[in-house]
Amino acid sequence: MQAITIIGGGIGGLCLAIGLQQRQIPVQIYEAAPALRPVGAGILLAPNAMNLLERWGLAETARQRGLCLSSLGGSEFGVLDAQGRSLLAGFDLKVMRERFGQELVTISRAGLHQLLLEALPADCLHLDKRLVGLQQTADLVKAEFADGTTIETACLIGADGLRSAVREQILPNQPLRYSGQTSHRALVTFDYRELGQPVAAEIWGAQLRFGYTPVGQNLVYWYATSLAAQGQRDLSPTAARELLLAQAHDLPSVVKTLIERTPDAALLRTDISDLVHLKAWYYGRVGLLGDAAHATTPNLGQGGCQAIEDAWVLAEMLERYEQPQLAFLHYQQRRIKKARTIVDTSWLIGSLVHLPYAWQRTWRNRLLRLMPRSLGQRQTNGIYALNF
Ligand code: FAD
Repeated sequence: MQAITIIGGGIGGLCLAIGLQQRQIPVQIYEAAPALRPVGAGILLAPNAMNLLERWGLAETARQRGLCLSSLGGSEFGVLDAQGRSLLAGFDLKVMRERFGQELVTISRAGLHQLLLEALPADCLHLDKRLVGLQQTADLVKAEFADGTTIETACLIGADGLRSAVREQILPNQPLRYSGQTSHRALVTFDYRELGQPVAAEIWGAQLRFGYTPVGQNLVYWYATSLAAQGQRDLSPTAARELLLAQAHDLPSVVKTLIERTPDAALLRTDISDLVHLKAWYYGRVGLLGDAAHATTPNLGQGGCQAIEDAWVLAEMLERYEQPQLAFLHYQQRRIKKARTIVDTSWLIGSLVHLPYAWQRTWRNRLLRLMPRSLGQRQTNGIYALNF
Protein backbone atom coordinates (compact mmCIF):
# COMPACT_ATOMS: atom_id res chain seq x y z
CA MET A 1 0.00 0.00 0.00
CA GLN A 2 1.18 3.56 -0.76
CA ALA A 3 2.31 5.74 2.14
CA ILE A 4 -0.23 8.14 3.61
CA THR A 5 1.00 11.69 4.18
CA ILE A 6 0.05 13.57 7.34
CA ILE A 7 0.61 17.31 7.72
CA GLY A 8 1.05 18.25 11.40
CA GLY A 9 2.60 16.29 14.26
CA GLY A 10 0.23 17.36 17.05
CA ILE A 11 -1.95 14.94 19.05
CA GLY A 12 -4.19 14.16 16.07
CA GLY A 13 -1.41 13.66 13.50
CA LEU A 14 0.67 11.45 15.79
CA CYS A 15 -2.34 9.31 16.79
CA LEU A 16 -3.38 8.84 13.17
CA ALA A 17 0.17 7.75 12.36
CA ILE A 18 0.05 5.24 15.23
CA GLY A 19 -3.32 3.92 14.05
CA LEU A 20 -2.02 3.49 10.50
CA GLN A 21 1.28 1.89 11.57
CA GLN A 22 -0.61 -0.63 13.68
CA ARG A 23 -2.60 -1.57 10.57
CA GLN A 24 0.64 -1.95 8.58
CA ILE A 25 -0.10 1.13 6.47
CA PRO A 26 3.06 3.17 5.80
CA VAL A 27 2.90 6.79 6.88
CA GLN A 28 5.00 9.97 6.75
CA ILE A 29 4.40 13.05 8.93
CA TYR A 30 5.48 16.57 7.93
CA GLU A 31 5.60 19.03 10.82
CA ALA A 32 6.25 22.78 10.55
CA ALA A 33 8.15 23.15 13.83
CA PRO A 34 11.92 22.57 13.78
CA ALA A 35 11.57 20.56 17.00
CA LEU A 36 8.42 19.01 18.45
CA ARG A 37 7.48 21.32 21.30
CA PRO A 38 4.11 20.52 22.81
CA VAL A 39 2.09 23.69 23.33
CA GLY A 40 -0.29 23.97 26.24
CA ALA A 41 1.14 22.81 29.59
CA GLY A 42 -1.20 19.96 30.56
CA ILE A 43 -4.18 18.06 29.21
CA LEU A 44 -7.07 15.97 30.49
CA LEU A 45 -7.65 12.67 28.73
CA ALA A 46 -11.28 11.65 29.14
CA PRO A 47 -12.50 8.01 29.02
CA ASN A 48 -13.22 8.15 25.25
CA ALA A 49 -9.57 9.02 24.54
CA MET A 50 -8.26 6.58 27.15
CA ASN A 51 -10.26 3.72 25.64
CA LEU A 52 -8.61 4.34 22.28
CA LEU A 53 -5.13 4.64 23.81
CA GLU A 54 -5.94 1.28 25.45
CA ARG A 55 -6.66 -0.26 22.02
CA TRP A 56 -3.30 1.04 20.77
CA GLY A 57 -1.58 -0.40 23.87
CA LEU A 58 -0.65 3.05 25.20
CA ALA A 59 -3.09 3.60 28.08
CA GLU A 60 -0.93 2.08 30.81
CA THR A 61 2.01 4.32 29.85
CA ALA A 62 -0.33 7.34 29.84
CA ARG A 63 -1.50 6.47 33.36
CA GLN A 64 2.10 6.00 34.51
CA ARG A 65 3.46 9.19 32.96
CA GLY A 66 0.39 11.15 33.97
CA LEU A 67 -2.04 10.47 36.79
CA CYS A 68 -5.36 8.90 37.62
CA LEU A 69 -6.81 11.36 40.11
CA SER A 70 -8.19 8.51 42.22
CA SER A 71 -4.60 7.42 42.95
CA LEU A 72 -4.29 10.68 44.94
CA GLY A 73 -7.50 10.03 46.85
CA GLY A 74 -9.61 12.15 44.50
CA SER A 75 -13.22 11.14 43.95
CA GLU A 76 -14.34 13.76 41.44
CA PHE A 77 -13.27 16.58 39.15
CA GLY A 78 -15.26 19.30 40.91
CA VAL A 79 -17.05 22.14 39.19
CA LEU A 80 -17.55 24.72 41.93
CA ASP A 81 -18.74 28.25 42.55
CA ALA A 82 -16.44 30.81 44.17
CA GLN A 83 -17.57 29.68 47.63
CA GLY A 84 -16.56 26.09 46.87
CA ARG A 85 -20.12 24.74 46.45
CA SER A 86 -20.70 22.14 43.76
CA LEU A 87 -22.29 23.51 40.56
CA LEU A 88 -22.48 20.54 38.22
CA ALA A 89 -22.64 16.83 38.81
CA GLY A 90 -21.32 14.28 36.36
CA PHE A 91 -17.54 14.23 36.82
CA ASP A 92 -17.50 11.48 39.45
CA LEU A 93 -14.37 9.40 38.83
CA LYS A 94 -15.85 6.14 40.13
CA VAL A 95 -18.94 6.51 37.96
CA MET A 96 -16.71 7.22 34.95
CA ARG A 97 -14.73 4.05 35.57
CA GLU A 98 -17.87 1.93 36.04
CA ARG A 99 -19.69 3.29 32.99
CA PHE A 100 -16.89 3.80 30.51
CA GLY A 101 -14.18 1.44 31.75
CA GLN A 102 -11.67 4.27 32.12
CA GLU A 103 -10.98 7.17 34.40
CA LEU A 104 -9.96 10.69 33.60
CA VAL A 105 -6.17 10.81 33.18
CA THR A 106 -4.22 14.05 33.54
CA ILE A 107 -0.83 14.40 31.91
CA SER A 108 1.62 17.08 30.82
CA ARG A 109 1.52 17.82 27.08
CA ALA A 110 5.22 16.96 26.91
CA GLY A 111 4.51 13.58 28.54
CA LEU A 112 1.69 12.83 26.10
CA HIS A 113 3.71 13.86 23.02
CA GLN A 114 6.67 11.83 24.17
CA LEU A 115 4.67 8.63 24.60
CA LEU A 116 3.01 9.07 21.20
CA LEU A 117 6.38 9.70 19.55
CA GLU A 118 7.88 6.62 21.19
CA ALA A 119 5.16 4.51 19.55
CA LEU A 120 6.37 5.57 16.07
CA PRO A 121 9.58 4.88 14.15
CA ALA A 122 11.79 8.00 14.15
CA ASP A 123 12.15 8.03 10.38
CA CYS A 124 8.45 8.72 9.71
CA LEU A 125 8.61 12.26 11.15
CA HIS A 126 10.02 15.17 9.08
CA LEU A 127 10.53 18.39 11.05
CA ASP A 128 10.83 21.95 9.75
CA LYS A 129 8.42 21.19 6.91
CA ARG A 130 5.75 23.89 6.76
CA LEU A 131 3.15 23.16 4.11
CA VAL A 132 2.50 26.20 1.92
CA GLY A 133 0.79 24.82 -1.17
CA LEU A 134 -1.26 21.89 -2.49
CA GLN A 135 -2.30 20.76 -5.92
CA GLN A 136 -4.21 17.61 -6.77
CA THR A 137 -5.10 15.65 -9.88
CA ALA A 138 -7.39 12.62 -10.12
CA ASP A 139 -4.63 10.29 -8.82
CA LEU A 140 -2.06 12.41 -7.05
CA VAL A 141 -1.55 15.18 -4.50
CA LYS A 142 1.49 17.44 -4.68
CA ALA A 143 2.49 19.26 -1.50
CA GLU A 144 4.88 22.20 -1.36
CA PHE A 145 6.83 23.22 1.71
CA ALA A 146 8.22 26.57 2.80
CA ASP A 147 11.80 25.32 2.27
CA GLY A 148 11.06 24.90 -1.45
CA THR A 149 10.83 21.09 -1.40
CA THR A 150 7.83 19.17 -2.73
CA ILE A 151 6.42 15.67 -2.33
CA GLU A 152 3.84 13.63 -4.23
CA THR A 153 1.42 11.34 -2.48
CA ALA A 154 -1.80 9.45 -3.19
CA CYS A 155 -3.51 10.62 0.00
CA LEU A 156 -2.86 13.55 2.34
CA ILE A 157 -4.42 14.41 5.70
CA GLY A 158 -4.28 17.86 7.25
CA ALA A 159 -3.84 17.49 11.01
CA ASP A 160 -2.40 20.97 11.20
CA GLY A 161 -4.65 22.56 13.79
CA LEU A 162 -7.07 25.46 14.14
CA ARG A 163 -5.40 27.61 11.46
CA SER A 164 -4.89 24.69 9.09
CA ALA A 165 -2.99 25.49 5.90
CA VAL A 166 -4.33 22.28 4.34
CA ARG A 167 -7.93 23.39 5.02
CA GLU A 168 -7.18 26.80 3.51
CA GLN A 169 -5.99 25.05 0.34
CA ILE A 170 -8.99 22.75 -0.11
CA LEU A 171 -11.80 24.75 1.55
CA PRO A 172 -10.63 28.38 1.59
CA ASN A 173 -11.89 31.17 3.86
CA GLN A 174 -13.65 29.10 6.51
CA PRO A 175 -14.40 31.49 9.37
CA LEU A 176 -13.10 31.07 12.92
CA ARG A 177 -15.36 32.26 15.74
CA TYR A 178 -13.72 34.19 18.59
CA SER A 179 -15.33 33.28 21.91
CA GLY A 180 -14.65 36.62 23.58
CA GLN A 181 -12.41 34.77 26.04
CA THR A 182 -8.71 34.35 26.43
CA SER A 183 -6.95 31.60 28.37
CA HIS A 184 -3.85 31.40 30.52
CA ARG A 185 -2.24 28.06 31.32
CA ALA A 186 0.81 26.81 33.18
CA LEU A 187 2.54 23.86 34.79
CA VAL A 188 3.78 24.60 38.31
CA THR A 189 5.98 22.58 40.63
CA PHE A 190 3.54 22.15 43.50
CA ASP A 191 2.84 19.46 46.08
CA TYR A 192 -0.66 18.18 45.23
CA ARG A 193 -1.49 17.86 48.98
CA GLU A 194 -1.52 21.65 49.20
CA LEU A 195 -4.56 21.63 46.88
CA GLY A 196 -6.84 20.07 49.49
CA GLN A 197 -10.06 18.40 48.27
CA PRO A 198 -11.24 18.07 45.63
CA VAL A 199 -7.74 17.51 44.35
CA ALA A 200 -8.85 18.68 40.88
CA ALA A 201 -11.48 21.33 40.27
CA GLU A 202 -12.73 24.14 38.12
CA ILE A 203 -14.02 27.20 39.96
CA TRP A 204 -16.32 29.72 38.32
CA GLY A 205 -15.60 33.16 39.81
CA ALA A 206 -17.03 36.55 38.87
CA GLN A 207 -14.21 37.41 36.45
CA LEU A 208 -12.04 34.34 36.31
CA ARG A 209 -12.77 30.69 35.72
CA PHE A 210 -9.86 28.76 37.19
CA GLY A 211 -9.16 25.02 36.85
CA TYR A 212 -6.36 23.00 38.43
CA THR A 213 -5.30 19.38 38.54
CA PRO A 214 -2.18 17.47 39.48
CA VAL A 215 -0.45 15.86 36.50
CA GLY A 216 2.31 14.36 38.66
CA GLN A 217 3.10 14.00 42.37
CA ASN A 218 4.76 17.43 42.38
CA LEU A 219 3.37 18.98 39.24
CA VAL A 220 0.10 20.88 38.91
CA TYR A 221 -1.50 22.05 35.67
CA TRP A 222 -3.76 25.08 35.92
CA TYR A 223 -5.82 26.96 33.36
CA ALA A 224 -7.86 30.13 33.58
CA THR A 225 -10.25 31.93 31.26
CA SER A 226 -11.49 35.51 31.30
CA LEU A 227 -13.24 37.96 29.00
CA ALA A 228 -10.85 39.83 26.70
CA ALA A 229 -10.78 41.50 23.30
CA GLN A 230 -9.18 39.35 20.62
CA GLY A 231 -5.46 39.67 19.98
CA GLN A 232 -4.43 41.39 23.23
CA ARG A 233 -1.04 40.40 24.60
CA ASP A 234 0.25 40.49 28.16
CA LEU A 235 2.76 43.27 28.65
CA SER A 236 4.93 40.93 30.73
CA PRO A 237 4.49 37.76 32.84
CA THR A 238 4.46 39.99 35.94
CA ALA A 239 1.64 42.10 34.47
CA ALA A 240 -0.26 38.93 33.50
CA ARG A 241 0.09 37.51 37.02
CA GLU A 242 -1.07 40.79 38.56
CA LEU A 243 -4.12 40.90 36.31
CA LEU A 244 -4.98 37.25 37.04
CA LEU A 245 -4.59 37.85 40.78
CA ALA A 246 -6.92 40.84 40.58
CA GLN A 247 -9.47 38.82 38.59
CA ALA A 248 -9.20 35.99 41.14
CA HIS A 249 -10.23 38.29 44.03
CA ASP A 250 -13.25 36.12 44.95
CA LEU A 251 -11.56 32.72 44.50
CA PRO A 252 -10.02 30.49 47.22
CA SER A 253 -6.46 31.16 48.37
CA VAL A 254 -5.05 28.08 46.60
CA VAL A 255 -5.80 29.80 43.28
CA LYS A 256 -3.74 32.83 44.24
CA THR A 257 -0.91 30.61 45.49
CA LEU A 258 -0.80 28.73 42.19
CA ILE A 259 -0.73 31.97 40.19
CA GLU A 260 1.97 33.49 42.41
CA ARG A 261 4.20 30.42 42.17
CA THR A 262 4.02 30.22 38.38
CA PRO A 263 7.42 30.88 36.80
CA ASP A 264 7.50 33.52 34.04
CA ALA A 265 8.50 31.07 31.33
CA ALA A 266 5.65 28.68 32.19
CA LEU A 267 2.82 31.16 31.59
CA LEU A 268 1.06 30.66 28.27
CA ARG A 269 -1.74 32.78 26.82
CA THR A 270 -4.09 31.65 24.02
CA ASP A 271 -7.20 33.38 22.70
CA ILE A 272 -10.07 30.90 22.46
CA SER A 273 -11.72 30.41 19.07
CA ASP A 274 -13.52 27.58 17.37
CA LEU A 275 -14.26 26.75 13.76
CA VAL A 276 -17.69 27.32 12.24
CA HIS A 277 -19.06 23.89 11.16
CA LEU A 278 -17.54 22.73 7.88
CA LYS A 279 -19.90 21.13 5.39
CA ALA A 280 -17.25 18.57 4.44
CA TRP A 281 -14.01 17.35 5.96
CA TYR A 282 -12.32 16.42 2.69
CA TYR A 283 -11.93 17.28 -0.94
CA GLY A 284 -10.72 14.63 -3.35
CA ARG A 285 -7.63 12.90 -1.97
CA VAL A 286 -7.11 15.42 0.85
CA GLY A 287 -8.82 15.04 4.24
CA LEU A 288 -8.88 16.93 7.54
CA LEU A 289 -8.61 15.71 11.11
CA GLY A 290 -8.77 17.15 14.65
CA ASP A 291 -8.81 20.92 15.09
CA ALA A 292 -8.30 21.40 11.34
CA ALA A 293 -11.74 19.84 10.79
CA HIS A 294 -13.72 20.82 13.90
CA ALA A 295 -11.79 23.00 16.38
CA THR A 296 -13.80 23.46 19.56
CA THR A 297 -13.56 25.79 22.53
CA PRO A 298 -11.98 23.92 25.46
CA ASN A 299 -14.96 24.01 27.85
CA LEU A 300 -15.52 20.25 27.70
CA GLY A 301 -11.78 19.40 27.58
CA GLN A 302 -12.49 17.43 24.41
CA GLY A 303 -10.52 18.96 21.48
CA GLY A 304 -7.59 16.56 21.81
CA CYS A 305 -9.87 13.63 22.72
CA GLN A 306 -11.92 14.22 19.58
CA ALA A 307 -8.75 14.32 17.47
CA ILE A 308 -7.91 10.90 18.95
CA GLU A 309 -11.39 9.59 18.01
CA ASP A 310 -10.87 10.92 14.47
CA ALA A 311 -7.51 9.16 14.28
CA TRP A 312 -8.96 5.79 15.24
CA VAL A 313 -11.84 5.98 12.77
CA LEU A 314 -9.82 7.40 9.88
CA ALA A 315 -7.10 4.75 10.24
CA GLU A 316 -9.81 2.07 10.15
CA MET A 317 -11.46 3.57 7.06
CA LEU A 318 -8.15 4.01 5.22
CA GLU A 319 -7.49 0.32 5.82
CA ARG A 320 -10.97 -0.67 4.66
CA TYR A 321 -11.23 1.48 1.52
CA GLU A 322 -8.50 1.78 -1.06
CA GLN A 323 -9.98 4.95 -2.55
CA PRO A 324 -9.16 7.88 -0.21
CA GLN A 325 -12.44 9.61 -1.15
CA LEU A 326 -14.44 6.62 0.09
CA ALA A 327 -12.40 6.35 3.27
CA PHE A 328 -12.93 10.08 3.94
CA LEU A 329 -16.66 9.85 3.23
CA HIS A 330 -17.18 6.98 5.70
CA TYR A 331 -14.90 8.63 8.30
CA GLN A 332 -16.87 11.86 8.05
CA GLN A 333 -20.20 10.03 8.31
CA ARG A 334 -19.09 8.28 11.50
CA ARG A 335 -17.60 11.32 13.17
CA ILE A 336 -19.25 14.56 12.10
CA LYS A 337 -22.38 14.45 14.29
CA LYS A 338 -20.53 13.90 17.53
CA ALA A 339 -17.79 16.42 16.71
CA ARG A 340 -20.43 19.08 15.94
CA THR A 341 -22.32 18.33 19.17
CA ILE A 342 -19.11 18.80 21.14
CA VAL A 343 -18.40 22.13 19.41
CA ASP A 344 -21.95 23.39 20.08
CA THR A 345 -22.18 22.16 23.69
CA SER A 346 -18.75 23.53 24.51
CA TRP A 347 -19.66 26.92 23.03
CA LEU A 348 -22.84 27.00 25.11
CA ILE A 349 -20.96 26.18 28.32
CA GLY A 350 -18.39 28.86 27.49
CA SER A 351 -21.11 31.47 27.18
CA LEU A 352 -22.54 30.46 30.57
CA VAL A 353 -19.21 30.68 32.37
CA HIS A 354 -18.52 34.38 31.96
CA LEU A 355 -21.82 36.17 32.55
CA PRO A 356 -21.28 39.89 33.07
CA TYR A 357 -23.84 40.59 35.83
CA ALA A 358 -23.90 39.21 39.36
CA TRP A 359 -27.66 38.50 39.21
CA GLN A 360 -27.13 36.42 36.05
CA ARG A 361 -24.43 34.37 37.76
CA THR A 362 -26.60 33.86 40.84
CA TRP A 363 -29.51 32.55 38.74
CA ARG A 364 -27.20 30.44 36.60
CA ASN A 365 -25.74 28.80 39.71
CA ARG A 366 -29.21 28.14 41.13
CA LEU A 367 -30.42 26.60 37.89
CA LEU A 368 -27.31 24.47 37.48
CA ARG A 369 -27.78 23.08 40.98
CA LEU A 370 -31.39 22.21 40.18
CA MET A 371 -30.36 20.30 37.06
CA PRO A 372 -31.25 16.62 37.55
CA ARG A 373 -28.23 14.31 37.80
CA SER A 374 -29.66 12.19 35.00
CA LEU A 375 -29.37 15.12 32.56
CA GLY A 376 -25.66 15.53 33.32
CA GLN A 377 -25.18 11.78 32.93
CA ARG A 378 -26.92 11.75 29.54
CA GLN A 379 -24.62 14.55 28.45
CA THR A 380 -21.47 12.72 29.55
CA ASN A 381 -22.72 9.51 27.90
CA GLY A 382 -22.80 11.37 24.60
CA ILE A 383 -19.25 12.58 25.12
CA TYR A 384 -17.41 9.67 26.71
CA ALA A 385 -19.05 6.71 24.97
CA LEU A 386 -17.51 5.62 21.67
CA ASN A 387 -20.22 5.37 19.03
CA PHE A 388 -18.31 3.63 16.23
P1 FAD B 1 -2.65 20.77 17.07
O1 FAD B 1 -2.40 20.25 18.43
O2 FAD B 1 -2.84 22.25 16.91
O3 FAD B 1 -1.43 20.29 16.16
C1 FAD B 1 -1.24 20.81 14.86
C2 FAD B 1 0.20 20.57 14.45
O4 FAD B 1 0.35 20.97 13.08
C3 FAD B 1 1.21 21.40 15.25
O5 FAD B 1 2.28 20.57 15.66
C4 FAD B 1 1.66 22.48 14.27
O6 FAD B 1 3.00 22.90 14.49
C5 FAD B 1 1.52 21.74 12.94
N1 FAD B 1 1.31 22.65 11.79
C6 FAD B 1 0.55 23.78 11.74
N2 FAD B 1 0.61 24.32 10.50
C7 FAD B 1 1.40 23.52 9.75
C8 FAD B 1 1.83 23.56 8.38
N3 FAD B 1 1.46 24.54 7.55
N4 FAD B 1 2.65 22.57 7.93
C9 FAD B 1 3.04 21.56 8.76
N5 FAD B 1 2.67 21.48 10.07
C10 FAD B 1 1.84 22.45 10.55
N6 FAD B 1 -8.20 19.03 24.58
C11 FAD B 1 -8.41 17.93 25.35
O7 FAD B 1 -8.67 16.84 24.83
N7 FAD B 1 -8.33 18.00 26.72
C12 FAD B 1 -8.03 19.17 27.35
O8 FAD B 1 -7.94 19.19 28.60
C13 FAD B 1 -7.83 20.35 26.56
N8 FAD B 1 -7.57 21.54 27.16
C14 FAD B 1 -7.40 22.64 26.38
C15 FAD B 1 -7.20 23.88 27.01
C16 FAD B 1 -7.06 25.03 26.25
C17 FAD B 1 -6.92 26.36 26.95
C18 FAD B 1 -7.07 24.95 24.82
C19 FAD B 1 -6.90 26.19 23.97
C20 FAD B 1 -7.26 23.72 24.20
C21 FAD B 1 -7.45 22.57 24.97
N9 FAD B 1 -7.68 21.33 24.38
C22 FAD B 1 -7.91 20.22 25.15
C23 FAD B 1 -7.77 21.21 22.90
C24 FAD B 1 -6.54 20.56 22.30
O9 FAD B 1 -5.38 21.26 22.68
C25 FAD B 1 -6.64 20.58 20.78
O10 FAD B 1 -7.93 20.23 20.38
C26 FAD B 1 -5.66 19.58 20.19
O11 FAD B 1 -4.34 19.99 20.46
C27 FAD B 1 -5.88 19.45 18.69
O12 FAD B 1 -4.92 18.58 18.16
P2 FAD B 1 -4.54 18.64 16.62
O13 FAD B 1 -3.50 17.60 16.44
O14 FAD B 1 -5.76 18.63 15.80
O15 FAD B 1 -3.91 20.10 16.40
